[in-house]
Amino acid sequence: MVYNEKLHEEKVFKDPVHRYVHVRDKLIWDLIGTKEFQRLRRIRQLGTTYLTFHGAEHSRFSHSLGVYEIMRRIIENFQQFTNWSEEERLLGLSAALLHDIGHGPFSHTFEKVFHLNHEKFTEEIILGETEVNTVLSKANQDFPQQVADIIAKTSKNKLLVSLISSQIDADRMDYLLRDAYFTGVSYGQFDLERILRVMRFYDDQVVIKSTGMHAVEHYIMSRYQMYWQVYFHPVSRSAEVILRKILHRVKDLASQGYAFKQPPDVFHSFFTGKVSLSEYLQLDESFILYFFQKWQAEDDEILADLCRRFTNRKLFKYMEFNPMQVKEWYELYEAFQEAQIDPDYYLILDSSSDLPYDFYRPGEEEERIPIQLLMPNGDVRELSRESELVDAISGKKRTDHKLYFPLDQIEDLSTNRAAKLRIVEMLKRGGT
Ligand code: CA
Repeated sequence: MVYNEKLHEEKVFKDPVHRYVHVRDKLIWDLIGTKEFQRLRRIRQLGTTYLTFHGAEHSRFSHSLGVYEIMRRIIENFQQFTNWSEEERLLGLSAALLHDIGHGPFSHTFEKVFHLNHEKFTEEIILGETEVNTVLSKANQDFPQQVADIIAKTSKNKLLVSLISSQIDADRMDYLLRDAYFTGVSYGQFDLERILRVMRFYDDQVVIKSTGMHAVEHYIMSRYQMYWQVYFHPVSRSAEVILRKILHRVKDLASQGYAFKQPPDVFHSFFTGKVSLSEYLQLDESFILYFFQKWQAEDDEILADLCRRFTNRKLFKYMEFNPMQVKEWYELYEAFQEAQIDPDYYLILDSSSDLPYDFYRPGEEEERIPIQLLMPNGDVRELSRESELVDAISGKKRTDHKLYFPLDQIEDLSTNRAAKLRIVEMLKRGGT
């Protein structure tokens, strides 16, 4: 049994992607009002992408509401085929709403540099002493744990898990549409209405009626396009590289006992890897950008320069670079040293890769639940066996390597013309 009140009147949020987000349950309304959920307003959904696509200022708050709304509609559609218990319905809605609650600002970069993982914080926010936990516990005692299990994919309720994290889930469907809308690109569009209408149950999984195959093909191609045109855009990655290097520099300086004009406060706990939940929740993008503003005035030239670059969008230039070119890499590295441009901060190889769709390969890393089609005779078939389009890109991982460097600084090497010419020459040759 779960305890849930209905609101006297339905509440709505105006939303540019779904037109309206509808809330009828007091539990959901109260979750949205918690300080941990409101914090998501201060974290951009796409990290540094706003430096490439200026419209990409949307927050994880709006995305989370969107995932909730898609889930609400899926559950509403499914009511005609099956009777969901009130508990299952509320679990699905709560997990959809909270699936990103553990994300911090620029979280991919933070996770990489400080070896954090947002899954751990998601669990702490749901199970720890938080407003979110207080609200969830009112439904029933077990409720927080059940929500956490669905998000962590350890729940026995496979159907709810797959609706939130599979190759066609409420999370992906919202972020593709939302990110396309806010970046202003047209690639991310697909027919959400149609997909929702052809979703069915089969045992404990979601399948797609075979007549809806083309809508799913479109969705997969959208995802493929969005990754390469938006998510892995080399300019956003340049900003990410600089962000990463700022954090590295601050960590290095702190360990050397450097006297900061603006000491890195709460960052200290990140350096030691012992971050408390309250410290983590304090962090949002305004907080970080405040420090970057201040650090522009530090005596340490590298830190000040990197912070100016990030704040004023003076990003690194880039070129294709094959990481197998070890000899070229070392030559460049030495040339940078000679020119007194610290290669550990100013010569960075960055790689991105994505697998647009994959069929089932048990036991492999990143094992994925495939998309199944429900055929007219009642059988299910894995999507890439039916769709030539999907078959063509299935299981094919594409990787992109780029070398980042401050071209402006190299061109300014007026006192060391020989080093400058050497580097410029090497960069010209070095591309693949
Ligand atoms: Ca998400």
